[in-house]
Amino acid sequence: MAAPDVISTNPVRDVCDYDLLFDCVHCGLCAEACPTYIVSRCEMDSPRGRIYLMKSLAEGRIELDDDAARHLDLCLGCRGCETACPSGVHYGRLIEGARSFVERNHSRGFVDRLKRRAVSAIFPYPKRLQALLAPLRLVDLLGLRPALRATVPRTMRDWLDLLPPLKGISSPLPEAATVSPSADAAAVVVHHGCVAQVLANSENLNSEHLLAAAGYRVVHLETTSCCGALDLHSGNAARAHEFARTNVRALKLSGADAIVSAASGCSVAIAEYGDLLKDDPEFAEDARAVSSKVRDLSSLLLDAPASPMREFRCRVTYHDACHLAHGLGVREAPRKLIASIPGVTLVELPESDLCCGSAGSYNLTEPAMARELARRKADNIVATGADYVVLANPGCEFQIAAELLRRGSKIKVVHLADFLATASR
Ligand code: SF4
Ligand code: SF4
Repeated sequence: MAAPDVISTNPVRDVCDYDLLFDCVHCGLCAEACPTYIVSRCEMDSPRGRIYLMKSLAEGRIELDDDAARHLDLCLGCRGCETACPSGVHYGRLIEGARSFVERNHSRGFVDRLKRRAVSAIFPYPKRLQALLAPLRLVDLLGLRPALRATVPRTMRDWLDLLPPLKGISSPLPEAATVSPSADAAAVVVHHGCVAQVLANSENLNSEHLLAAAGYRVVHLETTSCCGALDLHSGNAARAHEFARTNVRALKLSGADAIVSAASGCSVAIAEYGDLLKDDPEFAEDARAVSSKVRDLSSLLLDAPASPMREFRCRVTYHDACHLAHGLGVREAPRKLIASIPGVTLVELPESDLCCGSAGSYNLTEPAMARELARRKADNIVATGADYVVLANPGCEFQIAAELLRRGSKIKVVHLADFLATASR
């Protein structure tokens, strides 16, 4: 970073919500909850270091050079620091602002730019992603993935490992929900997301299946658009606002009393539309109403009469997806549901709420740190002796499954909705 050249205590640059920076009292209690600090032991890769960096940038005391951008890029946006912080620092909001500032003011290298543009142009649009993956789907149908994996260069192999088997994905459930909801049943909508509806649609369908079986009235959206989380995390605030407005319109129209997503990052993004669109005169009120309806699948299922479960003898550990644990504060409900299945032994996962390195598209843009965290997560999972690791976010599922595959582990990685649906059949 360039040496400080201007001493100021007032913001001279629009880096983030400047006033929020003063909630930080620099106690450092967040450091040991921060995955990038745990790995690097570098203060500037800790939450406190990054907050100091944002303040210095805002006050014009340093320039946004490669080094400063690097420390901000390396943040996973996992919000582990928010859970640990006794001062209630809204770190998520700060880093989203800082990311947007970096995108507006920093010029990246060619490869980095290309990766980020590809993610931004493809991931939020299911049809584009499906078209891109069509050849790989054929490879999977022919059973040739292992052969392909053995022949491609290492970087491509790492990306390939992150993709679940494509044959059979999106297939409908074998049986529809058998319970007719009562006239006054709460209406629930499952937001199918963008990447999730291509790579993990069974999780959407099984969420609907479980909710219907629990007596909720499942309603559907006329249009589903990306929740905007990918854009918020990569500094594209303008498009995140556009996606948010489209979703607010569709979610309001659905008449749902509760909004669920199988991807916890999407749940948190929708839960924060009220804040995101607070200055939009046309959408502010509806966005607040939509955000207030966000619930998680496991809490809704626990609120309903328990569905019968078949015996399922296995040892299970549970990984806390960052946005579910740190964003929505949901930790106990999924564990209670898993433990209620006859025959299941639930074993606690050490560091269960430490990020696995997936973090949206982070494992594509920051593969080295992402891989380090995946290794640490896999070590902890293997140590539990579990047959299954259950989690509530498709991104974590792909990231952890890839790491377990690389080490030849037989442990199965399963989304909570798929796991519960299997046990309830
Ligand atoms: S969001 Fe996660 S990676 Fe970023 S500073 Fe907070 S704890 Fe560290
Ligand atoms: S973010 Fe919170 S925990 Fe971390 S240094 Fe600031 S006040 Fe302390």
